[in-house]
Amino acid sequence: MTDLSLEFFPPRDATAEVRLVAAAKELAALAPRYVSVTFGAGGSTREGTLATVRQLQGLGFDVAPHLSCIGATPDSLRGLLQSYRELGVRRLVALRGDMPSGMGPGLSILRHASDLVRFIRDETGNWFHIEVAAYPEMHPQAASPQADLGHFIEKMREGANSAITQYFFNADAYFEFVERARAQGVSAPIVPGIMPITNHNQLVRFSEACGAEVPRWIRLRLASFGDDRASIRDFGQDVVGSLCQRLLDGGAPGLHFYTLNQADAVRGVWSQLHRQ
Ligand code: FAD
Repeated sequence: MTDLSLEFFPPRDATAEVRLVAAAKELAALAPRYVSVTFGAGGSTREGTLATVRQLQGLGFDVAPHLSCIGATPDSLRGLLQSYRELGVRRLVALRGDMPSGMGPGLSILRHASDLVRFIRDETGNWFHIEVAAYPEMHPQAASPQADLGHFIEKMREGANSAITQYFFNADAYFEFVERARAQGVSAPIVPGIMPITNHNQLVRFSEACGAEVPRWIRLRLASFGDDRASIRDFGQDVVGSLCQRLLDGGAPGLHFYTLNQADAVRGVWSQLHRQ
C-alpha cells in the first residue's frame, strides 16, 4: 500500500471549517499515515494551526503541525513546542516560512529552516520526528541549484528525519534531486509533494509564487478547457495520476498531497492509482 500523507490548512471561518472536516472525514478512507496542518505566513495562523491540529486529532488522525521560524522569537517557538508536546504530537514540519508581503524578516534569530531544526533538537531532543521542505526545481530565492542542495543537506545534518518536496509536474526533476542528495550522503526519505489540478488560474498563481514549473503543454491544455470544470478535473486527474505512478515506480517512498482542504481531486488521483 502506498505510504500517504495529506496536508490541510486552517480554515478561515465557520463555513470553511465545515468543509475541512467533511474533506478530512472523506479522506480518512485512504488511511493516511499522518496529516499535516500549515502555518500561516509569519506565524499569522498560529492559533488557527493549533485549533486545526486539535480538531484533526479528534477525528483520529496522527497530526503533524507545520512550524515556521521567520519572524518568530525563541520564546514563542518554545511555547508552541510545549503545546504540541502536551497534545501528544510527535511529528513536525519545520520551515523557514515567508513573511507576509511587505514585511522583512525583522530581528529573527532563526533565519533559516536549518536554524529551526537545530533549535527543535536542542529544546526537545528526539521527541519529534522532523520533516523539512525540499525543492527539486530549486527554491525561488536560492542562488543556484548547488547552493540550494547544500542548504537542504544542512537541514538534514541538523537532525531532520525526512523531507517533503515542493510540488512539481516533471518527475525527472524529482529523481535527479534525490540522486544528487543521495550522492551527498542523504539517506532519509524524500517524499514528493503532489498538487492535484482542479483550477487553471489558481494553479498558475500558486506556481508563480512558489517557483514550481507548470509545463507549457499542461498550461495550453488547461487554457483550452476554459470554464469546463469537468474536463479540467478529468485531465488533471490523468496528468497527476500518471505522475504519481511514475514516481512510485521510480522508487518514491510515498506521496504527500496538498489537499487544499478538498477531498474530490485527491480521491480521483488515488482511485486512478489503485485501479487494477
Ligand atoms: P530554508 O530551507 O531556510 O530555505 C529558504 C531559502 O534560503 C532557500 O533559497 C535556501 O537555499 C536558502 N538558505 C537556506 N539556508 C541558508 C543559509 N544558511 N544561508 C543562505 N541561504 C540559505 N510556508 C508557510 O508559511 N507555512 C507552511 O505551513 C508551509 N508549508 C510548506 C510545506 C512544504 C512541504 C513546502 C515545500 C513548503 C512550505 N511552505 C510553507 C513554504 C516555505 O515556507 C517557503 O518555501 C519558504 O520560502 C522556505 O522555507 P524553507 O523551510 O524551505 O526554508
